[in-house]
Amino acid sequence: MYAKNPLIRVASVGPVLLVLGIFCFEWYAFNCVFMLRGLGRWKGEPIEVAFFRAFFFNAFWLLALWSFLRCSFSDPGFVPQWWLDQNRHIRTEPSFFGWMPGRVSSCQKCEVPRPERAHHCSICGKCVMRMDHHCPWVGNCVGAKNHKYFILMLAYGILAAFTYGSSSYPILAAMIGHSGRGRYTIGSLGVKGWGIFSMGAVLAASLCLAMSVLFLSHLWLMAVNRTSIEVAYAGRNPYSQGIFANASQLCGRFGVDWLLPIAPFRPMTDGCKYLDYNCVDPECGV
Ligand SMILES: [Zn+2]
Ligand SMILES: [Zn+2]
Repeated sequence: MYAKNPLIRVASVGPVLLVLGIFCFEWYAFNCVFMLRGLGRWKGEPIEVAFFRAFFFNAFWLLALWSFLRCSFSDPGFVPQWWLDQNRHIRTEPSFFGWMPGRVSSCQKCEVPRPERAHHCSICGKCVMRMDHHCPWVGNCVGAKNHKYFILMLAYGILAAFTYGSSSYPILAAMIGHSGRGRYTIGSLGVKGWGIFSMGAVLAASLCLAMSVLFLSHLWLMAVNRTSIEVAYAGRNPYSQGIFANASQLCGRFGVDWLLPIAPFRPMTDGCKYLDYNCVDPECGV
């Protein structure tokens, strides 16, 4: 989305539109087919259960979509101009594949200094602070400023997919088993509706599984204060301060904002400095 090359910017739109299409399809399959056309007419389904199902699916779906959009359309953490202005003439150290705590290196491609933990993304054509990886599905780099949104997108995506999958499993099993309830449901949905409903359920289950693996790996990375690049570094991690402090470095001081795809209210780092960072907020405690 923010690549220097306009051709790459245009090409990034394709996978993002595909993901948005999956979001819309799942919403339609759950709400318009499963709930409105199917569930409403099922015998023996308490209305309260249907209401809670719909509430949780739509809340998780909305939070997942919000996180996805924030992840795609936010600055992932490109080196800010104020930092470049301040460090234009600083003595840089040669870059190598390992820990460089508190040290400024030089990017050979951008030909400018860059702060600790920053890496050059060949797709974006720029250096990204605390770069994790370039994700084609969000069409953006995942770095210091949007890694939190990426993790939340996976968490809420899993919850939404799980709600769909777990709600539909007994119905699918009844349909496949040709029980009375299954026959009634097929009759109420129609062949096209049955196809959309079951395709949505299979997609939700597959996404739930795939996202769970990704989510757990990124949760672990957050807990040990490493990126997907730094995970291969040898030696002791100089940034690790314990699980909670490590998570705070990515999500800010603990608060309700941890659960929402918004910038941390009380950030623990500006992305340029990670050791002895002095937060402007006096309550910050760092
Ligand atoms: Zn660079
Ligand atoms: Zn990138």
